Amino acid sequence: MWECFSRHTSTFLIMGPNCTRNCRFCAVEQGPLGPPDPEEPARVAEAAREMKLKYVVITSVTRDDLADGGASHFAETVRQVKNKIPDALVEILIPDFLGDEKALNIVMESSPDVLNHNIETVSRLYPSVRPEADYRRSLAVLMQAKKINTSVFTKSGLMLGLGELSGEVEETLKDLVKAGCNMLTIGQYLQPSKKHIEVDRFVSPEEFDGWRKTALETGFSEVASGPFVRSSYHAKELYQGVLSNVS
Ligand code: SF4
Repeated sequence: MWECFSRHTSTFLIMGPNCTRNCRFCAVEQGPLGPPDPEEPARVAEAAREMKLKYVVITSVTRDDLADGGASHFAETVRQVKNKIPDALVEILIPDFLGDEKALNIVMESSPDVLNHNIETVSRLYPSVRPEADYRRSLAVLMQAKKINTSVFTKSGLMLGLGELSGEVEETLKDLVKAGCNMLTIGQYLQPSKKHIEVDRFVSPEEFDGWRKTALETGFSEVASGPFVRSSYHAKELYQGVLSNVS
């Protein structure tokens, strides 16, 4: 938090504390779901302004119970932040919206600077790690976002230590690059509680460095890879890196 806050970067989790899914790696709980709070977008924007943020990451729980998966609430939050802080960059870390292209259009119309959607793990491990998600659907979200707006930078994230094999990680990197993905974060999976899926192994910092090199060689413009790297780690620096690569 200190590292990010000192760089005027912060992440907001919107649409409540509870999720409609139950990924085996995630500490977010299932529980009662209310409608999104209509005042939330304005409050997020005001908090971002007060914190003098220059790079705002907006993410959410997955809300499969809502007709648009919460896309319009997401878009309204982006718009309010951009209105309140016109020079702030906004990155959205979105759920898959069950592959609903209309929902993706709604969030894309709010003009985020970066669209992030985490692939999380390799295809083979989806049934045990993300049973309610779909590897191909997640790739399609990234691909579709690029189709809607070719100038938006796309980003994804991968955890290591869940039992994936090196060849499977390489395949995932290739799939993401084929989907047009510009940026990648790679971090160590840590078990949030005894109820969650166990850590298969701890990956050495040297191996993370190797994966960064491999990912760059595969075609990503920017990669953050290390034991403590999470989706929004050094988000602004990654954005600036990819921007300088294209200009
Ligand atoms: S969908 Fe996202 S927030 Fe919900 S349990 Fe899975 S990782 Fe956690």
